[in-house]
Amino acid sequence: MPELPEVELVKRELTPVINLKITDVELSQHIYNGHKLNKRTIVKDDLDAFKEIVTGKTITHIGRRGKYLYFLINDEYKTTHLVSHLGMSGAYFIVSDFEDIKEHNFKKHWQVIFSLDNGQKLVYSDIRRFGEMHTHESLQDFPPFQRMAPEYTDELGFAHYMKMLRTKKYEEKPIKAAIMDGEVIPGVGNIYAVEALYLSHILPTKKVGNVSDKRLRELFDRITEVFELSLSHGGSTISDYRSVTGGKGEMQNSFNVYQRKECPLGHELKTKVISTRNTFYCTICQR
Ligand SMILES: [Zn+2]
Repeated sequence: MPELPEVELVKRELTPVINLKITDVELSQHIYNGHKLNKRTIVKDDLDAFKEIVTGKTITHIGRRGKYLYFLINDEYKTTHLVSHLGMSGAYFIVSDFEDIKEHNFKKHWQVIFSLDNGQKLVYSDIRRFGEMHTHESLQDFPPFQRMAPEYTDELGFAHYMKMLRTKKYEEKPIKAAIMDGEVIPGVGNIYAVEALYLSHILPTKKVGNVSDKRLRELFDRITEVFELSLSHGGSTISDYRSVTGGKGEMQNSFNVYQRKECPLGHELKTKVISTRNTFYCTICQR
């Protein structure tokens, strides 16, 4: 699943579509079929309304909040925010021709094609279809954004993280579950949680109330460090993450514990399911 660094990289690579107008929107049969069954596959708005809102608007800005991307789209009458989450396996491609998508699976599982006024297409592909797209007049209309903590890069990010972790709500929670909660810090998924906990020598199962302020600060710094390292390595490609140009990241080669059998010091790693995801940790290096 793409986490903050992968989504940030997609955002940066989508820059070429800024200032282009969306002239048409095509939706896949999977989306139409899902909507017929009331499952609202990927596009959460009513489909006719979605097409009408998006068509004819110009993309003027692309932002990111946590693991969500948002496109600011407007025409002379109206400004709308198109919010997009990549789910487990979503990917965007900017191509001159649909056939330019090299990988069969991404070509086969295209879901939304935005035609642009320079003749290119912005294609959203999603193999497992857990991604989502919806429009909002204001970003504050979207409840997850109302509750989301400031970004780790925001000057308020660290103070907010400390304040939240010291509330009653998190006291009894495993530290791993707490840092994967966007109300504490946005964008930390399973991989970066496991890596940051190893680097800060904290057991993922430890209750937040039993972790000192000093160690919580250390953990925040390590989360920042793994995010920045991943950004500089083009993100992690575990299975389905692709950059806009179809490239794969290299961060997976720098993992200390995620999907490893031993930690860098040669200790055998333990695995346990925490917050529904497989957690890797070392009972010698982490306490
Ligand atoms: Zn170890």
